[in-house]
Amino acid sequence: MNIILFGPPGAGKGTQADKLITHFQLPHLSTGNIFRENIKNETPLGKKVKSILDSGQLVPDETVIELVLDELQKKRYSKGVILDGFPRTVSQAEALDNFFRSNGDKVDAFVTLTVPEDELINRILSRGEGRSDDTPQKIKTRLNVYREETEPVLNHYQKQGIVNEINGVGSVDEIFERIVNSLS
Ligand code: ADP
Repeated sequence: MNIILFGPPGAGKGTQADKLITHFQLPHLSTGNIFRENIKNETPLGKKVKSILDSGQLVPDETVIELVLDELQKKRYSKGVILDGFPRTVSQAEALDNFFRSNGDKVDAFVTLTVPEDELINRILSRGEGRSDDTPQKIKTRLNVYREETEPVLNHYQKQGIVNEINGVGSVDEIFERIVNSLS
């Protein structure tokens, strides 16, 4: 089963992904986590994307698509994946769809978490992860990028009829229950 977890920065994708991987026994693929890990380890990829993540802008499609499609070919994803942070542009979504299609596979569910904007900002500022892109100005940039470049991905999957829209306000467990119910 291939599940996309979608939503603006601060919507709780990472938190819910952690619970879903346990529930469904599926591997987690978070592009944000992969980039941060590469930055921390000062790999060539990390050096290439550091200033982009710091700015709150998106890493170029070409780079992200190559990274994710290479990753998805690994054996650990043979039973499916929980994708979090990808696809983030319509080009990324098309590349993913083509990849799955050529493997006789597909996106089974697209879960989008809906949270009001003021709550998103509060959550990010109070989570205190120390991320260099968690300052008020960078959060504003990320939300703008989300609206302009990422939100059209929702429409792309709405056309496929696989979108589950989940109210992302409530306790972590409540939201998890909503997601699991929507998938069954
Ligand atoms: P958040 O959802 O809180 O913004 P992520 O960890 O998903 O956090 O992403 C952090 C940053 O990593 C993004 O602002 C962007 O610079 C980069 N990034 C992650 N995934 C992608 C992607 N699919 N395409 C382009 N850039 C990405």
